[in-house]
Amino acid sequence: MKPPAAPAAPRRRATDARVVVDRLARAFPGATTELAYSTPFELLVATILSAQSTDARVNQVTPTLFARFPTPEALAASPPGAVEDLVKSTGFFRQKTRAIIGAAAAIVDRHGGQVPTDMDALVALPGVGRKTANVVLGHALGVPGLPVDRHVLRVANRIGIVAARTPERAEQQLCAALPPDTWTLASDCLILHGRRVCRPTPQCPRCVLNDVCLHYAAGTGHPPSRGAGSRRRPPQTRPERPATGARRARKRR
Ligand code: SF4
Repeated sequence: MKPPAAPAAPRRRATDARVVVDRLARAFPGATTELAYSTPFELLVATILSAQSTDARVNQVTPTLFARFPTPEALAASPPGAVEDLVKSTGFFRQKTRAIIGAAAAIVDRHGGQVPTDMDALVALPGVGRKTANVVLGHALGVPGLPVDRHVLRVANRIGIVAARTPERAEQQLCAALPPDTWTLASDCLILHGRRVCRPTPQCPRCVLNDVCLHYAAGTGHPPSRGAGSRRRPPQTRPERPATGARRARKRR
């Protein structure tokens, strides 16, 4: 006689991305970019400088940079050595100097000194990829944009609202799951959550999403309590502080 079949494991369901954004927006009221800027051009330059650096570091150098070269025309005509000296502390300063002077020159030559308002024109500027373009579109130009950086990619995969290896794929999936008027907020919230809570070593016990997070569920055996959408494979990163033999032994002592 055949043994009775084991009960089927409960299906894990991916959480609705709108639920995640709503909770994070309440956890981080007023979430927005931490880069300081006053014009779309300044945000474009600051975002290029933020690659492989921190927003705080960029904010230390941009007031002097923008005071000395306040417009695309001024930056396009600037001596590279002077710009390199000003942005040196952000790292990769030679490439970044080439990029921001090149972008300024292209804005002057091709767009009459105005930062263009569409993705194709933005990513055609030197040093500008989709992430930078989306930052500028969403924050400074009033056009829906969802920047995906390493934090967004890591956090969204862990929670289970995307199953994506690349920022481009994650952007597509998040944009498909969220209303356009929440795209930029979603990115800002996921970035802040990735910096403060869902770090490379995540702080799951104090996370407002731990009841709906596939990564946490994979480590605890507690499936997310709510959610809707398609079934997704849990991300292959380790949950926080798995019980180890050493920790168990310490506890017994
Ligand atoms: S429960 Fe843990 S892994 Fe999931 S989002 Fe929160 S901090 Fe990140």
